[in-house]
Amino acid sequence: MAHPRDPRGHGRRRRLLPDPMTQVRLPAWSRGRVALVGDAAYCATAVSGQGTSLAMVGAYVLAGELARGLGAGAYQDRMQHYVEANQHLALVNAERTRQLTGAQEAVEGFDEHWVASAATAIDLPEY
Ligand SMILES: Cc1cc2nc3c(=O)[nH]c(=O)nc-3n(C[C@H](O)[C@H](O)[C@H](O)COP(=O)(O)OP(=O)(O)OC[C@H]3O[C@@H](n4cnc5c(N)ncnc54)[C@H](O)[C@@H]3O)c2cc1C
Repeated sequence: MAHPRDPRGHGRRRRLLPDPMTQVRLPAWSRGRVALVGDAAYCATAVSGQGTSLAMVGAYVLAGELARGLGAGAYQDRMQHYVEANQHLALVNAERTRQLTGAQEAVEGFDEHWVASAATAIDLPEY
């Protein structure tokens, strides 16, 4: 990968830029009138493949629970299991990726049921 300040890599030695995968695990996603959603509250990392869903579902549930008058605590209660399932999925994916020796193996070993069970680990109410 080229250096970010020189996308064509001209005039510089090309080098890899390692970027660590870091999950966010907070005991509480809100305090007072401030609430976090998405990566800021519960980043699962790119290897979950679920970060966008977590962010959008989180925004939907937070808005819905606030509209019900139940507050941000209810938002976290409803989301907690879903977030944990998808953060766990990321750890499993990361471990599998470390053990892979080729792309074909990655395709053959892909377990869509495992992904689907994390992706659907929440009952979404009609708010
Ligand atoms: C390489 C990579 C691959 C990924 N692949 C997938 C994938 O295949 N599927 C998937 O579902 N997810 C994937 N993700 C994760 C997904 O991109 C994130 O989980 C998702 O974008 C989180 O949404 P968000 O709204 O919480 O945060 P973000 O999308 O990061 O939005 C936060 C916004 O806040 C802005 N911001 C930050 N600080 C300030 C400030 N002080 N003032 C104003 N604005 C500010 C930022 O500029 C940004 O626009 C991937 C992520 C990466 C890095």
